[in-house]
Order: sequence, then structure tokens, then C-alpha cells
Amino acid sequence: MKVDMLRLKVELLCEGCKLSAKIDKGRKVGAGPAGGRYILLPGGFCVNTAFWGTFTKKSPWELTERNGEYFLMRKEDDEILEEVPIEAVPNPNFYSLTTSDGIPMWKIALLHGKNCLATTVHQKCVYWKFGKKCKFCGIELSLRSGTTIPVKTPKQFREVVEAATEEGVCNTITLTTGTTATPDRGATLLAEVVRKVKSHQKIPIHIQVEPPEKDKYLEMLADAGADTIGIHIETFDRRILKEVCPGKAETTLEKYFEAWKRSVELFGEEQVSSFLIVGLGEDDESILRGAEELARIGVVPYIVPLRPIVGTEFENKRPPSPKRMIPLYTQVAETLKIYGVNPNKNKAGCVRCGACSAVSEALFL
Ligand code: SF4
Repeated sequence: MKVDMLRLKVELLCEGCKLSAKIDKGRKVGAGPAGGRYILLPGGFCVNTAFWGTFTKKSPWELTERNGEYFLMRKEDDEILEEVPIEAVPNPNFYSLTTSDGIPMWKIALLHGKNCLATTVHQKCVYWKFGKKCKFCGIELSLRSGTTIPVKTPKQFREVVEAATEEGVCNTITLTTGTTATPDRGATLLAEVVRKVKSHQKIPIHIQVEPPEKDKYLEMLADAGADTIGIHIETFDRRILKEVCPGKAETTLEKYFEAWKRSVELFGEEQVSSFLIVGLGEDDESILRGAEELARIGVVPYIVPLRPIVGTEFENKRPPSPKRMIPLYTQVAETLKIYGVNPNKNKAGCVRCGACSAVSEALFL
């Protein structure tokens, strides 16, 4: 049975998966698209599919197990319409280790995709304090549930990197941060962590930060050795941004463009990216226009469907349908071709990993 990989990946991204196999459902909450885990489709395509959240109960896909092997199954009235063998990315061994100061390593960093070690260096965000948080965000929920610690020191993270590379599961690194109340927006701590890792190993590192007040903080990150950067606008619809991300909406669009353009000078074309979340209430035109504006300046638009995380204001929202997402991905892929932007040239982080978006599959399948 030939499987349409783009359709399958988009369905798993948008609709999640029911679960009858006995596997760990992955992290329930946290920064970014939490609430699921990573599976490998035939051909090695990696996807971050949700197992948590009410929307997954209506998914046409179910993860099952037979003789120790995993399958995705689509059924209708007990008839199996499609069956796809998959692999679940195993939890790495370093999760059972502790740092030299006694913190379990899984509280410091987690494996994203097949081989991207990721951490939220500063697990608090100023917008949570002032009632202006992004409605889809679960950054402080994992802190409250005790599954992580507030701040990861460069030394702690470096020890996890060492354990993960020894195990052979760390090819790239993603460092993100909640926004701080300081002009650097959290960039200084990110730079310290980057410096610490780079003084020992040459692993490509991706950092994510809101546009800092001054370009000097972006320069500091590049000087520290970061390879790629994500500066996430989330949506180009300013009305929706104000409604969904009131804190982030205080930064002007002009400021985002300044930060993206300076970052392209510092990190190079295709090494700068921005998440665009579909399903916040915007229309397709805003996604397509925004993706084009990003591609025009050499920034990768990383298009992802909304992931409703349990415990957030958006937990009962429905993600966008695959019917909406597939043409969007296809049209954005055409735009990337026109502007010569190739996400596969990105060296580190979310774009390199690719598990949360089907933008590369739309471009190359
Ligand atoms: S800026 Fe928004 S998405 Fe980022 S950590 Fe703060 S609340 Fe969460």
C-alpha cells in the first residue's frame, strides 16, 4: 500500500493519534508543541504527533502494537483502511542519569526528534506575571508540575550534552527561553550556555529569543557561537496576535523585521526562522503573505498547526484541518522555491529537526 507521506505527516500533526499500544505518551506540557512524542514514518520522516489533548480522541489514526512492532492504523467500522509500520523514537539512556549537582538530566534537557537536544534555559516568562501570556503556551506549567527546574546553568546543560553525545543522540541543540523583563529578552543567559557548550564541542546550536531591544544582543549570540536563530512572530495578523499573545504584540512588526534582517547578516540566509502558527483565528492570506515576506529576506517560515496543550487557555481548541494545511504547505513550498529558500540548508534546531512542520516534505516530496 503506497502511503502519501505529506498527507500522513500533516494528519498526524493536526489530528494527533489515539493510543492502544503501551508506550510513554511523551511530555504533557512545556514550551513549544508539547503533548506528544516523536515517531519515525517509513523513509525516516520524523513527526511530533500528539497523544495528549481531547482533539486526539477524534483522530482517524491509532497507534497499535503487534509482536513488539508499532503500526499506525486507520480503521472504519472494523475494516482496516490503512496500516503503516512506524518506529517510536526511544527515550535515551541519559534520562536515567543525574548531573553532578544531583538534578535528573531529563529535567535539564529532552531529546526532540531523532537527535536534537533541547532545553528551555529560563523556564519563566515575564508575560505570565503580568497576565499577558500567549494563550497556547505551556512554558510555566512544566515548572509547576515539577518536571523541570526554573533556570538551567551552563554547567548543568553542558553535562547533559556530554552524556547525550556519548550516547550518540545529540547532533544539534535547541536553546529557548521565556522572555525576561530585561532589554536582552534572555539572550545573555542563552549566550553563556552557547559559549560553555562550544568551548568543548562543535555541535551546531539553535537559539530562540524575542527581538531584543538592541542589535548588540543578537551580535553577542552570534559571537558566542550560535549557528541558527528563531525569532518567532507566531502570526502576521496583528489583531489576532494582540488577542492571543498580548505580551508579544507589544513589539512592533518593524522591530521583528529589524531583528530578522540583522540576524540574516549575522547567521546567514536560511539560518534564521520564524514559527507561523496556523489555527489562531487568522486567514490563509495572512499566512501566505507572511511566509512570502519572510522568504523574501532569507528567513525560513516554519509553518506549524496549533497544538492545543492541556492546561492552557487553548486546550479545547481544534487544530486546523489537514484539508486546510496541505494546500497551505504546498503554496508555501512554491514561495520558498521562488525565493530560493531551502530549509534543508538550516544547520540546527527546529527547522533542522523538522518534526513539528511539514514544510520540507511539501517542498521535496
Ligand atoms: S513569549 Fe509567549 S510563547 Fe514565549 S514563553 Fe512567553 S508566553 Fe510563552
